[in-house]
Amino acid sequence: MDDQQLETVSVEFTVGVGDGQFTATAVVPAGRTNLTQILPVLQSLENSIIQGVSAQLNAAGLSVSCKAGCGACCRQMVPLSIFEAEALTAWIRSLPEAHQEELARRFDQSLRKLAHAGLIDRMVNEDWFAETESARRLAIDYLYQRIPCPFLEEESCTIHPFRPLICREYLVTSPPEHCYDPATLQANPVHLPLNLSRVLNALGAELEHDSRGWIPLLFLFAWMESGAHPGEAISGNGPQVLYEFVKRIDLARAPSRSADTLSSGSSEAAK
Ligand code: SF4
Repeated sequence: MDDQQLETVSVEFTVGVGDGQFTATAVVPAGRTNLTQILPVLQSLENSIIQGVSAQLNAAGLSVSCKAGCGACCRQMVPLSIFEAEALTAWIRSLPEAHQEELARRFDQSLRKLAHAGLIDRMVNEDWFAETESARRLAIDYLYQRIPCPFLEEESCTIHPFRPLICREYLVTSPPEHCYDPATLQANPVHLPLNLSRVLNALGAELEHDSRGWIPLLFLFAWMESGAHPGEAISGNGPQVLYEFVKRIDLARAPSRSADTLSSGSSEAAK
């Protein structure tokens, strides 16, 4: 690794959020990088947003009930951006062979259960984020298969430090049992001012020329076979790559199944 690859630069940017603005500082590589390589920067940005929201909740006498050892939400379908799929592919391929085989076995077993339940075709063809009864029904049918995420062990996430953005964004203030059975018990989701996973999905959709810039997490091993490196399509020095991400924050504010309290705003970033 040369010095330029090790050098970092601090970038401050401001994003319009509702009636206000969100200003953040990110430390990115000074030299050449790509969107997949700066995922840790986005994860830390997401963590900062969540910490801010948690502090606001605490001040209002509420608290996030999600904690280590509760994997209630890890039986939902997880939309995984193709950039995070690329990063997870690299991580999986770096594992000892026995570990890779164990993960492959878990993914395969999960897909078999989905196929047995007749859900694969519906998963491929349904618009998961549509506000329709059929999308809602599919989400419930999927959850009720009770298929744990293959990365879940003893109800804890084994990839917690680099888990997908969407996993970080799913937070509730209601008891865990409400997440196990949301069709009959009402879960109280925490509304975040920004959902950065949507920005990744929007970027993925641009690259794929398809409304989906993501895959169901359980399709990861099949996707790995494609050998795709989508992050390379958004490359440059660190500030340039971050700018490509930040400028799409407005575009990513499409309505989705999770409530969003934002109105439109503007975004800008230091180039
Ligand atoms: S990646 Fe981790 S947090 Fe996300 S669903 Fe899987 S086990 Fe849960």
